[in-house]
Amino acid sequence: MWVDPMSLIREARQGGYAVGAFNMHSDETTQALVHAAEESASPVFLQVGRAVVPHMGLSAATAMTRRVADDSYAELVLHLDHGPWGECLEAIKLGFSSIMYDGAHLPFKENIASTRRIVEIAHEYGVIVEAELGKIPDADEKVDWSSYYTDVDEAERFVAETGVDTLAISVGIVHGIPGDPQPLDIPRIERIRDVTGVPLVLHGASGLSEEEVKAATAVGVHKFNADTDLRLAFRRGIENVFSKGDRQLEEALAEGRDLMVAATIEKLGHYGCLGRSAVRA
Ligand SMILES: [Zn+2]
Repeated sequence: MWVDPMSLIREARQGGYAVGAFNMHSDETTQALVHAAEESASPVFLQVGRAVVPHMGLSAATAMTRRVADDSYAELVLHLDHGPWGECLEAIKLGFSSIMYDGAHLPFKENIASTRRIVEIAHEYGVIVEAELGKIPDADEKVDWSSYYTDVDEAERFVAETGVDTLAISVGIVHGIPGDPQPLDIPRIERIRDVTGVPLVLHGASGLSEEEVKAATAVGVHKFNADTDLRLAFRRGIENVFSKGDRQLEEALAEGRDLMVAATIEKLGHYGCLGRSAVRA
């Protein structure tokens, strides 16, 4: 069942845990996420993300997600991850309840102006908006971290002037699995929480240990986006099957799906999410 995203995040904040947001890529990966949510009684954000949109288009990816999830008893949210302007508007039209607008490439003032406009439009339709401030590098990028972290004063101004519902921040994480992991800047998360007042989001949560997840949750992070670890689990399943010789593709996809279910439940456990859904079969 599709549920109100802000209620899930608010309940997570009150309960001292976080919700998980994971990318769908295909029928089988969407099924894995939905099964994991059902099996573990955890709410899950089903993300339509940056990889699947160029692959099949937003509307087909949305239709696929709906087809798999519509009849589920799990608490689910349809969320657009990293949408540029036009894609965010399309997602609102398609009935998403949660979008992440990515204006990070814009100069700060223009990012504020365009994010505020998206928030105004989205809120008219009851859609919540996440934005990202600070740069989150890809795993293979060489970075000078000091210029990547979310600036506390900018975060305060950005949230106050845009009215975003949640804020994704850069505090040492990367998109993907880091070759050279950077410790999370926990005091910075705490300061950003204090000045913005909104629930915070960490992208690139695949590289995080359970201890880091718990430390970040304790200071205001209530949504984690993870993709790489789940993709690797799916891939392991496929490779297991084909390592035995030629097999039907369905057998490989099924094993990929099984391993992704397990990997997703493991993440939900780290987030403190297991059993948090009120709904049962
Ligand atoms: Zn991101």
